[in-house]
Amino acid sequence: MQEDQRVFDVAVVGGGLGGTMLAAILARHGVRVLLLEGSGHPRFAIGESTVPETTFGLRVLARRYDVPEIEHLATNGALRRHVSSNCGVKRNFSFVYHREGEPTRAEECTQYPTWGPPLGPDSHYLRQDVDAYMFHVAVSYGATAHTHTVVDDVKFEENGATIVTRDNGTFQASYVVDAGGVRAVLPERLGLRQEPPYRTRSRTVFTHMVNVRPFDTVAPPRRLHGMPSPFSQGTLHHLFPGGWFWVIPFDNHSAGTSELCSVGVNLDLDRYPRPEGEGAEEEFWRHVRRFPSVAAQFERARAVRPYVSTDRTQFSSRTVVGDRWCLLPHASDFIDPLFSSGLAVTVMTLNALSHRLIDAVRHDDFDPTRFAYLEEWIKRMFRFYDDLVSCSYVAFDDFELWNAWNRVWTITTLYGTNAQNQAAVAFEKTHDPASFDALETPPYRGLQGVDNPWVEQLFNRSRDAVLAYRDGQLTKDQAVERIFTLLRESELCPAVWGTLDPEDRCPSGVFTLWPLMKILLWGKFRSPRHVRGAYFTGGARLVGKEAAQVYGAELRRGVSQVHQTARDMWCNWNRDWAHRPTSRDIRMKK
Ligand SMILES: Cc1cc2nc3c(=O)[nH]c(=O)nc-3n(C[C@H](O)[C@H](O)[C@H](O)COP(=O)(O)OP(=O)(O)OC[C@H]3O[C@@H](n4cnc5c(N)ncnc54)[C@H](O)[C@@H]3O)c2cc1C
Repeated sequence: MQEDQRVFDVAVVGGGLGGTMLAAILARHGVRVLLLEGSGHPRFAIGESTVPETTFGLRVLARRYDVPEIEHLATNGALRRHVSSNCGVKRNFSFVYHREGEPTRAEECTQYPTWGPPLGPDSHYLRQDVDAYMFHVAVSYGATAHTHTVVDDVKFEENGATIVTRDNGTFQASYVVDAGGVRAVLPERLGLRQEPPYRTRSRTVFTHMVNVRPFDTVAPPRRLHGMPSPFSQGTLHHLFPGGWFWVIPFDNHSAGTSELCSVGVNLDLDRYPRPEGEGAEEEFWRHVRRFPSVAAQFERARAVRPYVSTDRTQFSSRTVVGDRWCLLPHASDFIDPLFSSGLAVTVMTLNALSHRLIDAVRHDDFDPTRFAYLEEWIKRMFRFYDDLVSCSYVAFDDFELWNAWNRVWTITTLYGTNAQNQAAVAFEKTHDPASFDALETPPYRGLQGVDNPWVEQLFNRSRDAVLAYRDGQLTKDQAVERIFTLLRESELCPAVWGTLDPEDRCPSGVFTLWPLMKILLWGKFRSPRHVRGAYFTGGARLVGKEAAQVYGAELRRGVSQVHQTARDMWCNWNRDWAHRPTSRDIRMKK
């Protein structure tokens, strides 16, 4: 290898989804970027369910940094067409409550639908396909990438770092981003790992299965449960005191090509310590058998890869940013799979990190103060998700408590998602990437609306009510009543939602075009002063325009497919090669 092929501006250690997206963006902007992945592609990875803040954040990332391939991950239609038909659709988050030894009760479930087209729906990523796709996108933009190259050490010098691989190769880089996930090299080499300062204490057993039945075939009939979206077309959470199962099907739509379903059980570590002498598989099935409706769903299921059983799922690093290095969130901390926050925090970080790195390379100035924003907001989001998840484990004690607490999350999600949309709408009007600077300005920083004092106050006070219940200072009924009072007093709940009615267990309703318009109208004309003007200020035109574009593109694609098939039946010659999209090389030279 020539010497100049070993010297880079930025080295990204870890070629998962986070590392590959970063490498693609940096390479797109002329940064000399090295991407090192310890295994090969495709390879198994966990982190499969997206949330609206992930997909809205991906759209922002794609437009802000002009990497349209990232936008293919943002809606399920584009994902299936451009990336992999092995991915599943996520039209909802469903939460079904279970009592040991009893079939689930029709009225004990809640649901939060994801957005309909053109801004949704969300997806279940078969990560091996999605990560491999993004790895190739990074390479095609000019990143120098090596698979099967484990980084064993990084030595920092005054002007950069030497990256040492397991086969004793070395690379030089001015800056190192560790995107290595839980087993990242820098936290270990720099002694960053610490006892997780989190209230959440859980562990996980998970695998991939085939033959998992759609829950709609074993659940009570729709006329009784009343949820608007099929359970099997979303991420299904089976809740029980002290734990929950995830069911993430990849085989849940008519155009799907996968038969897989990701499943896992998460357990409160103190209530369910790791059993001595019981394997992961035995333990998984023991919990399945406790709940008849879950057992019915898994009746014919079998695992197609080894079960993984973790110790405490939470891990943490003292710091995220240092002199000439930083960690992506999953290399730094993790809370729990509940609410699928991992990729959302990663995408938020990539949005804030990429322009800082591009600028640092241009000025050859990697002063850690340039990256201080990341330290603050990554850690703040982990603290938020720790509160959200730990209180959820408390709320799993009782369906009514869950039914109240879960509404607080629907509100934080609404404001978090809308913050991203505000920036996207501004960009649509101006086509100026500076529109996205708003995402690093109050009240839009971070995720889940935490930067907005009203949202933060609602969240913190509701959290305190759940903790007071846990500590025996409030009864369950008192905690539930307090949360509903806080929701009402906050005035943050759109009047078109059923949030204040405990009987309405899908309080947001659905996010198809007309209900979306109603939220926008509420925001524009009827919302309180602390909402009006800052949220829901526009978007109807953007949504309308994108809906028309998506509809037109689908029509053209269908017609073109029929035309090609008919043509190929009669004729051998064609000019398809003349209609290929402009290559990345040519686009970048423009
Ligand atoms: C049980 C569980 C369930 C989860 N479920 C969800 C979910 O539903 N939704 C969600 O959004 N998030 C979820 N997450 C979080 C999600 O997995 C992460 O946020 C996401 O994978 C982060 O992507 P990444 O690319 O930063 O890291 P990873 O996907 O972990 O990729 C890290 C890569 O770095 C490579 N690597 C590591 N060390 C080295 C080295 N020394 N040298 C070279 N290469 C190296 C690895 O081989 C790997 O390919 C879950 C996490 C867990 C633990």
